[in-house]
Amino acid sequence: MKRAFKTEKGHYIALDGVDLTVRAGEFVSVVGPSGCGKSTLLGLISGLARPQSGKVEIFGRRVAGVRKDVGFIFQKDALLPWRTALQNVMLPLRFRRVPAREAEERGRAWLGRVGLAKFASYYPHQLSGGMRKRVSIAATLVYEPDVLLLDEPFSALDVQTRALMENDLLDLWSLNRPTVLFITHDLEEAVGLSDRVVVMSAGPGRMIGEHEIPLARPRDLLEVRFDPAFTELHHQIWEQLRDEVGRAQNPSMLTQPIS
Ligand code: ADP
Ligand code: MG
Repeated sequence: MKRAFKTEKGHYIALDGVDLTVRAGEFVSVVGPSGCGKSTLLGLISGLARPQSGKVEIFGRRVAGVRKDVGFIFQKDALLPWRTALQNVMLPLRFRRVPAREAEERGRAWLGRVGLAKFASYYPHQLSGGMRKRVSIAATLVYEPDVLLLDEPFSALDVQTRALMENDLLDLWSLNRPTVLFITHDLEEAVGLSDRVVVMSAGPGRMIGEHEIPLARPRDLLEVRFDPAFTELHHQIWEQLRDEVGRAQNPSMLTQPIS
């Protein structure tokens, strides 16, 4: 796939030659330096944007727009401030024409699963960052998407909240095992969560490596990083990622000879 943007200085190629297949039920993370095109890639897969060449398919069907069986979670939560936690979680069901009573039942059940049963009537501004993230996750999982796309969902959270949220995400994922594509710039998070980690180059983004993560499940994100197998995998992938992070920070160093 290729995706270019028109800019004042001409065309900027954000993605070029990207090729990725994810198996049903697989948890795949994409890591790459800032600006390499990760969010652009997710935009193409979600159907929010179109590639200039190439195609995206989900379950063998070409993506031509936003699909109802695909869920998204972004870094910035998309809750409506004038609606309570419960109303926010019910909203996607109401969009899908689920009757009010059933939507409320399912909404309450999912708020319970993310540990917020007691906060159903709170408004987003009355909740902490971690709690708002939980509401966002409930509001996405409530319609049981077959595919879940996440773009650095936890990067604005503090370290402890983040580890708890990562564990919760894995628990919730194991309930009905949607296919997951998880975007992050954090390699530890990627290795901890995933069945497979894909490494992208500095922009224009390409896939430069794929690593299976054969760590046993269920995993505890607070513990797994002390496992020697984890350290070894992290080290191997970092070897590949390090050069790209350097290139992303100072691209001119690569093209200009040092005199
Ligand atoms: P990442 O998510 O990996 O940090 P992005 O996918 O957001 O990177 O962006 C990749 C590159 O494409 C960046 O250089 C960014 O500036 C550029 N870009 C993204 N969206 C647009 C746009 N709408 N118009 C022009 N350039 C864009
Ligand atoms: Mg991004």
